[in-house]
Amino acid sequence: MFLKDNESWNATYDVVVIGFGGAGATAARFAADKGAKVLLVDSAPEGHEGGNTRYCGQIVEAGYDYEKLKKYYQKMTAPLDLDEQVLETFVKGMVNLPDYFEKYLGGKAFSVKNNPGNKNVAMLAYMSAEYPEFEGADTNDDLLVHDQIFDAALWKKLRQNVLDRSDKIDVLYSTPAKHLIQDTDKTIIGVQIKNKGKLFNVHAKNGVVLALGGFENNEQMVQDYLGETNLLPYGTLYNNGDG
Ligand SMILES: Cc1cc2nc3c(=O)[nH]c(=O)nc-3n(C[C@H](O)[C@H](O)[C@H](O)COP(=O)(O)OP(=O)(O)OC[C@H]3O[C@@H](n4cnc5c(N)ncnc54)[C@H](O)[C@@H]3O)c2cc1C
Repeated sequence: MFLKDNESWNATYDVVVIGFGGAGATAARFAADKGAKVLLVDSAPEGHEGGNTRYCGQIVEAGYDYEKLKKYYQKMTAPLDLDEQVLETFVKGMVNLPDYFEKYLGGKAFSVKNNPGNKNVAMLAYMSAEYPEFEGADTNDDLLVHDQIFDAALWKKLRQNVLDRSDKIDVLYSTPAKHLIQDTDKTIIGVQIKNKGKLFNVHAKNGVVLALGGFENNEQMVQDYLGETNLLPYGTLYNNGDG
């Protein structure tokens, strides 16, 4: 939508992040660390934010050898014509994950591969590489923040990193984003949010980050795009396909 002549901004931020799941929490945290004043909004009420990141297994796919892992992913995605740069960025990210845990998530990751006898994560040992017969599969690993799964542990760390930056990040719960606001040249310059039944126009000087999950709670979209009439989500109830 465009701002009408008689409308003005209700608030101004450097960055507005929509969706307080893993992607939104991470975007908000790093924007704040770069000095931005951030507004983070989520449609869920406080205590129910976190999206599927909160309910998921908390298992992070990683790997150790860039060249071998790249071969594995090339083989897994063949014969799709995948953009080489996208693949390289993805695999580099995976290889950097052990360092990322230490630098940004407060400690050394728990490696499933390096703890083969651990009973809590035994089911992951055979799940890790989906195609163990492909070259490079042996460098694949699953990382966790500790030796438990499906306990929201990673989510709690991501969330805490946002809350620890409350001087830079304002969080609004029960506040869905309704529209992006464009300039006449179509640049995104803000977002319209709904809070307590009222609409507010928020100016975003340096960008709006869309991190509002999928459409699994939207029956019409599930029918239209997945061709299914009766699917029940196993996770958050607040991803309605708004993005
Ligand atoms: C049961 C389950 C287990 C899984 N296990 C794993 C796993 O172990 N490892 C793995 O890598 N992946 C796993 N996944 C997938 C993983 O959970 C998701 O890919 C990931 O959490 C997506 O993160 P996200 O931040 O993009 O979205 P989400 O975490 O879903 O966050 C989206 C947020 O946007 C908010 N939102 C939606 N619409 C609006 C709006 N209009 N305005 C404001 N806010 C809005 C929602 O309330 C939500 O908080 C699992 C998924 C499920 C369902």
